[in-house]
Amino acid sequence: MQETNYPHLFQPLDLGFTTLKNRVLMGSMHTMLEDIDGGHERLAVFYAERARGQVGLIVTGGVAPNKAGLALPVGHPLDNEDEVWKHRHVTDAVHAEDGKICMQILHTGRYGYSEHNVSASDTKAPISPFPARGLTGEEVEQTIKDYVNCALLAQQAKYDGVEIMGSEGYLINQFIVSKINRREDQWGGTYENRIRFPLEIIRRTREAVGPEFIIIYRLSMLDLVEGGSTWEEVVQLAKEIEKAGATIINTGIGWHESRVPTIGTIVPRGGFAWVTKRMMGEVSIPLIATNRINSPEMAESVLADGCAHMVSMARPFLADAEIVVKAMEGRPQEINTCIACNQACLDHTFTLQVSSCIVNPRACHETEINYAPASAPKNIAVVGGGPAGMAAAAVAAERGHHITLYEASHRLGGQFNMATVIPGKEEYQQTIRYYSVMLEKHGVTVKLHTKATPEGLASGGHDHIIIATGVTPRRLDFPGINHPKVLDYADVLSAKKPVGKSVAIIGAGGIGFDVAEYLSHDFDHPSVSLSVEDYMKEWGVDMDYNRGGSLAESPKPLPSPREVFLLKRSKGKHGKNLGKTTGWIHRSSLTMKQVNMLAQCTYERVDDEGLHITVAGEARTLPVDNVVICAGQVPLNTLAEQLTEAGQTVHLVGGARNAKELDAKRAIKEACLLVAEL
Ligand code: NAP
Ligand code: SF4
Repeated sequence: MQETNYPHLFQPLDLGFTTLKNRVLMGSMHTMLEDIDGGHERLAVFYAERARGQVGLIVTGGVAPNKAGLALPVGHPLDNEDEVWKHRHVTDAVHAEDGKICMQILHTGRYGYSEHNVSASDTKAPISPFPARGLTGEEVEQTIKDYVNCALLAQQAKYDGVEIMGSEGYLINQFIVSKINRREDQWGGTYENRIRFPLEIIRRTREAVGPEFIIIYRLSMLDLVEGGSTWEEVVQLAKEIEKAGATIINTGIGWHESRVPTIGTIVPRGGFAWVTKRMMGEVSIPLIATNRINSPEMAESVLADGCAHMVSMARPFLADAEIVVKAMEGRPQEINTCIACNQACLDHTFTLQVSSCIVNPRACHETEINYAPASAPKNIAVVGGGPAGMAAAAVAAERGHHITLYEASHRLGGQFNMATVIPGKEEYQQTIRYYSVMLEKHGVTVKLHTKATPEGLASGGHDHIIIATGVTPRRLDFPGINHPKVLDYADVLSAKKPVGKSVAIIGAGGIGFDVAEYLSHDFDHPSVSLSVEDYMKEWGVDMDYNRGGSLAESPKPLPSPREVFLLKRSKGKHGKNLGKTTGWIHRSSLTMKQVNMLAQCTYERVDDEGLHITVAGEARTLPVDNVVICAGQVPLNTLAEQLTEAGQTVHLVGGARNAKELDAKRAIKEACLLVAEL
């Protein structure tokens, strides 16, 4: 046992009436399984795996206390006994693994996606198309009763407690902040009146559930919106929450409508632990730190620095159910680290798909995707060491197959190697590390610098050949395309060819955005990988809390070292096809760096003067030093074609199979699904 490497993390936490086995909370995440038929049976398996992985306490995704509190016009609130049995699947499965689980109670208020939205007053959230109606006094009373009833039903369903969601801009926040709460009754006006709503919920819930039931309150410690609470108000509320009977206070950072990214991969690890640290000593119940804590080392350092009594990790438990047990057993290098991309988790939830994880397609699909030991081990060649090839090789080898992995370059990682050099995407390195460790652990023969040939493969006696050779940048064809100032994205990101002081990027997809981000950073400046302080300055967070909500007057980004133009042929907003929950971050970041985004471009020619284009029919010359082509990819599947012609059966995965809309999520999932069946 290696628990001694994490002396703070593996200390039990005594809550008086019950003890948590360690300081790790699996934070709340809505998976959409909550809302589909048979979803609770699947959730039971999902949570049971995490409980078996020794997490100290789990909090479920948000459950509405009544219909008006639903986030989406699907799903069911926990408002009557007929709903309880579904939850018993979950609690029984977690308890069978000796785990503990609380149910989050979440009323979305004006953030709901429904015509029945309600809030403290008549209002409309900037992130919902539906206006919300202010609750009447009677309805406020009824809503509090609904919270209490929901907690009682959770207790009946054998949860160990509840988490009352009081952050991220949901209904409770809407009562607390005066710019939304314009009520003139006992629930509005003074701060004391505005916080009455959450305090009555906690007080009456405690009365109803008795002393031996965990009540976590998720407190918005940093609203990150104009007119948000001051620090003094947050502390006052924390003290009142303790008095009202909460067992633990969890930290909430930023409302969903905030202009500051709070969980994206761009946020430095542990970037908001300082907020919880400020609260330490103000109350005597335990505090939980959250946001971008994705490794046991980070978690340990948050605790060792006295920032909190517990740490919350949510998405990291999608990426790997066994983070805790791997750390306990001295195997942290085997952790499949969450890279905070949001692509398969939050982006799915916000598009009404069941959540999963880009680096772990089993997440939330545990009943469908399993890697059982192979009944007859086979000899398998995998060609290509990018995400798809590494995943295929690692999973197939884990099942007991004999694998040889061929990679033409000197290193594993493929396209992910390019992602790792983008400022704010350094986490992608972790996926390469994880798979490299797994390949070694499961005895894969990795042949770097080795270009697989049909002849070589034919002589290998392979039962299966998996082609994961990936993609190559699409070449464009217009006058001047061979001018020395024209590069492609691989020239810039991989070959590190020099780029001048002004540059035009052709193509504004994911890679065009990444290249723009890369080129608008000064690599001689020490803070390319931003420290927490630099990050807060760059995005306009006032760490001294001089203003309510803790926003600074304005963001203070470091200036771009070059003039960047990001061009596309199509009409409309740049980046509209980027991730639902992260596209805005990329757009904001480039806007702060004053990247010029031009749509409706036709590319005429490149010459010594620069790039000649027409923009919406008007001729323009961009006097740039370089033009970087980021116009998508074409598959690299010559080998597959040669093998097929020679009568060999091959399995194509990832970009080699389909370069259109290539993404790592599809590539890794395809690879895992294929080898799960071989
Ligand atoms: P992409 O998203 O398909 O974008 C390619 C861009 O090139 C588009 O802007 C396209 O749009 C333009 N284009 C296509 N053919 C062209 C042509 N013949 N001439 C001129 N322009 C052309 O591809 P990508 O940027 O290479 O990204 C590949 C995949 O990786 C995508 O699935 C992407 O989602 C994923 N990825 C995502 C991220 C992220 O979310 N941050 C980052 C990296 C990669 P116009 O027609 O409008 O010009
Ligand atoms: Fe983390 Fe990305 Fe997986 Fe979500 S999809 S859990 S952000 S790695």
